Amino acid sequence: MNSLSAKETLPEGYMEAEKIDLVRNKKQMLLVNALAIVLALGMLGFGMLIAPEGHAAFFDLKNHASAAVFKGLALCLGSIVYLIGHEAVHGVFMWHYSHVKPAFGLSFTYAYAGSECYFGKKAYLVIALAPFVFWGIGLGIASLLVPAGWFWVVWFIQLMNVSGAAGDLFVFFYMLRKPETILVQDTGTAMTVYLPEQ
Ligand SMILES: [Zn+2]
Repeated sequence: MNSLSAKETLPEGYMEAEKIDLVRNKKQMLLVNALAIVLALGMLGFGMLIAPEGHAAFFDLKNHASAAVFKGLALCLGSIVYLIGHEAVHGVFMWHYSHVKPAFGLSFTYAYAGSECYFGKKAYLVIALAPFVFWGIGLGIASLLVPAGWFWVVWFIQLMNVSGAAGDLFVFFYMLRKPETILVQDTGTAMTVYLPEQ
């Protein structure tokens, strides 16, 4: 089977090889959280380096209080829209490969897109990394186009995109080392890896 595709049912001869649950596995959870912090700090530093002249207007509560409050609200709203947009991109690619409608979940602590289908290795690698790449490019362009005083509004969402992708990046590199023949089922909260019987 071409690994850039998906199956609705587990093909004959495939066996469950491994379950990955980042929430339950404390060691992996710690690693992902540490990576998220490093990425957030890196993005903060990077933002300071590339911030355009006049960017400090974002923080100017004294002289432009109403504008600052407005930008703060825009940032909150933008974060929520981003969170939904991130899962939507996972979902679009899940649908693209499987033609089965994915399931979405949203709570205060996490959001997810999941599917009961079995994805080939390449398809799953694309699904895992797509939101990070798509929004990374989109927000990158937006951060260059918005007026200087809005730079940090966009950049904080970009920071969220990069640091929040720590789990997706972990999964991407974890699956990258697996054999080409794997199938992955991702219900949104846990992943199961299947391998053909020897
Ligand atoms: Zn994700």
